[in-house]
Amino acid sequence: MGRAAVKHPVQHAEFFLTVANDDQLPPPGPPEVAFAGRSNSGKSSAINALANRTRLAFTSKTPGRTQQINFFRMRSGALLADLPGYGYAAVPRALKRHWQEFLARYLATRQSLVGLVLVVDARHGLADLDRQLLAGYLTSGRPVLVLATKMDKFTPSGQRVVQRAIERDIAGAFPFHAAQVAVVAFSATRRIGIAAAEATLAGWLGEGVFDAGKPPPVEAKEKAPRARGVARGPKSPRQG
Ligand code: GDP
Repeated sequence: MGRAAVKHPVQHAEFFLTVANDDQLPPPGPPEVAFAGRSNSGKSSAINALANRTRLAFTSKTPGRTQQINFFRMRSGALLADLPGYGYAAVPRALKRHWQEFLARYLATRQSLVGLVLVVDARHGLADLDRQLLAGYLTSGRPVLVLATKMDKFTPSGQRVVQRAIERDIAGAFPFHAAQVAVVAFSATRRIGIAAAEATLAGWLGEGVFDAGKPPPVEAKEKAPRARGVARGPKSPRQG
C-alpha cells in the first residue's frame, strides 16, 4: 500500500455494503472505523471531505432511508461504517428506539471496531444523544475522534473557544474516559482539520493491508496513539 493510502486513509474509499439490521453486518474482519452523529450534524459532508469525493456518503433527509449502516471500503481494505444519523424528529418513536438500541449494541460489541468518529455541529456542541452514545461506547476502552464541524462559521479564535468548550464538556461528563477522546476543529466546506483527522484515523488503522476475510491485526489497536486534546480527567482504567 502506498504512503498516500496511509496518510489519507479515506481517500478513494468505495461503497461496499448497506445493512439494515444486526444479521446483515459483515462478519468482523478488517478493522472498522465508525462515523456517528445527529442527523444534519455534517456527517456525510465530513466523510465526503475526507474521501475527497462529493457524493460518496449521501445526505438523506428522508427518515426511512437513514435507517441503515453504509459500509465503505478504504484502500487498505479497512472499513468505514457510516452509522444512521440520530435525533431526526420525524422518525416514529419505536423506530428511533430500535435504532438507538442497534447503534448502542453495534458500538459496544462490534469486535472489529477500532475507533469512533463522532461528528458534532460546533455551533450546538454535544447533544444528549451524543452523550448517551459516548457513555455506551467509552467503556470499551476504544478511542473517539470528535469532529467539531462547521467551524467555518467561527473566527480562528472563536474556533479555539468552541473546541475547548467541547473538550471541557467531555472531560466533565466522562472524567474517567476523557483521555480516550480527541477533539478536532473541522470544516468540510473550508477543509479545516482534514490532516488532523486523517492522522488520527491513520494511527488507529496502522499501515496494514486487510482482506475482508482476515481478522483485524492486534497491533491496529496497540498502535493507536493516546487520544490528545482532552486530558483533564484522570487516566481511564480499562473497564469493560
Ligand atoms: P448529515 O445529515 O449529518 O449527513 O449532514 P450533512 O453532511 O448532510 O450536512 C447537513 C447540513 O450542514 C447541510 O446543509 C450541509 O451543507 C451543512 N454542512 C455540512 N458540513 C458543513 C461545514 O463544514 N460547514 C458549513 N458551513 N456547513 C456544513
